[in-house]
This record gives sequence, structure tokens and C-alpha cells, in this order.
Amino acid sequence: MLDYHLHLWPHTRRDAPLVLEQVAAYCERANAAGVEEIALTEHLFRFVQADRLLGGFWEDDDVPERLRESMAEYWRFHVGADLDEYVAMVLEARRQGLPVVLGLEVDYYRGHMDQVAALLHEYPFDVLLGSVHWVEGWRFDDLDDALSMSEWSARKVDDCWDAYADALGELAATGACDVLAHPDVIKAAGRRPEYPKEWWERIADAAASSGMATEVSSAGWRKPAGEQYPAEGLLARLAARGVPFTTASDAHHLSYVADRAKDLYALLTSVGVDRLTGYRRRQAHTLPLTEPLPLPEPCAARDDAP
Ligand SMILES: [Zn+2]
Ligand SMILES: [Zn+2]
Repeated sequence: MLDYHLHLWPHTRRDAPLVLEQVAAYCERANAAGVEEIALTEHLFRFVQADRLLGGFWEDDDVPERLRESMAEYWRFHVGADLDEYVAMVLEARRQGLPVVLGLEVDYYRGHMDQVAALLHEYPFDVLLGSVHWVEGWRFDDLDDALSMSEWSARKVDDCWDAYADALGELAATGACDVLAHPDVIKAAGRRPEYPKEWWERIADAAASSGMATEVSSAGWRKPAGEQYPAEGLLARLAARGVPFTTASDAHHLSYVADRAKDLYALLTSVGVDRLTGYRRRQAHTLPLTEPLPLPEPCAARDDAP
């Protein structure tokens, strides 16, 4: 098993330090769960280097006026860390023998992905997750933000899923990332179309034609969606198309590292998957899907993925 989606900082913190002991503790808990390797995948928008490149993207014409200030505020709150220091810390952790690879969660910035790819090319990343957390400046899965959540009442669910599937397809086609993170995160707030099959087909086709892997994540169980990402119907379609998989918790806190690894294992075996995909310097390799070990229940009150 892998845990290829881990954050160092909860979204509620902006000034958390980079501490190697935190990585060591993540590895220890992962190993106790039978997870052989973890990837640290902090959000690109945490780093000042991203701010220089992408700050102000919400001023693009396609972002509605009412959402611009909210997006600007969100951005200002999260940005502040240094990408060089983050990379150096993870490399040092690996030098000390910890089973960790260097990753990043890269959101989709329409029209800016060439610049993002050029920036990331400067660093020795092992794996890049591609995510869609907003469409046209709307943070559809920011459950704690009242404005973002009120948008769900102002829009048709099918339109929201359409916009999400379009963005995910565009992101996949850029080739800028290696793994599609939480591929149906548009359901996070619990809003689903009556007949989701059409969107599952679109998402599975986008994944298959991109050559990317897709993650199977326990984070959805901690959301109003109440199920893993991807839904069983989407997972089956991805497996049928031969899309490779990683496994992930998307933890933002030690307590949720390797969360529900056993349940992810059961889902994957139920669709005939017996291999996972790992990455080194953005080159894929496969490894056997091994059965995880039981872990104590998370002790933290909550985890705040995305
Ligand atoms: Zn995410
Ligand atoms: Zn994440």
C-alpha cells in the first residue's frame, strides 16, 4: 500500500513550520498500517513561488465578480511557505532513510499550466498530483466557506458537474501531472446528479486517455459525500480501462495518515486490481497491492482536507 497524498498543514493554519520530525511521524504511522511508502504532496498554492506566478488568476474574465474577493482572501491566507525549503526538507528526510517521496498537489489553473510546468521542472519532484478544487474561481468543496457553499443553491447540480468534468479533462490533457487526485471531489459537499454515469464515463475517459494514474482516497469518507473517491461506479470504469492506481488518505494531520487503508484495499481487490503505481522522478513503476494492517482510530477531532 501507499499513502501518496499527504499534507503537512491543515487549511486552518497559515504559518506552520517545516519540521522533519513530522515527516518521520507520518512514516511511522504509515508503516504501522502496512503502508510502505508515502508522498508528501503539499498544495502548490502554499508557496510564494506560486504566488509570483499565479497570484491574481481570479481576476481572469471567467471568474464571477462575487467570488473574486473570496478567492483573493483564500489565496492570501494560504500562501507564505518557501518551495525550496519544502523540497530540501523532504529530500533530507529521504536521505535519512525515511520512505517518503517528493510530491506536490497542483491545482488546475486554466491557461497557466505551461508556466506551472516550467516552474515545477526546476525541482526534482517524484510525483505531481493534479487536482480540481475550483471552477471559475468557485471553491465548490470549501465546506467551511458559507459563500462557496451557497453557490450550490444558486446553480444546477448537473451544470456544476459539467464544469468540473470539463476542468478535469483539460487538466488531464495538459500532461502537467502524474496522478489525478480525488477524481470525483465535486461530490464532496454531498451534491450529486440523479444519474452520475455520464460524468463517470467522462472522467474515466479523461483519465485513460491522459496516461495518468488515479488515486483511490479515503478522504471522501470524512466529507458529507460519505464515500471514498472515486465512487464505486467510477472506480469500476477506471479499472475496466486499465487506469493505474495509487492509494491515499489526503490527511492534513498525523491522525489520518493511512486512514482506512484496509477499506481502500478491499475496494481495489473487488475490481480486480492487484498492483499499485509508485513514482520516482516522475517515472512510474508498479508494486504489488499488499493487505494493510489495522490501525487505531484517528484521535484528532477532524481533518480538514481538501
Ligand atoms: Zn485536493
Ligand atoms: Zn490534498
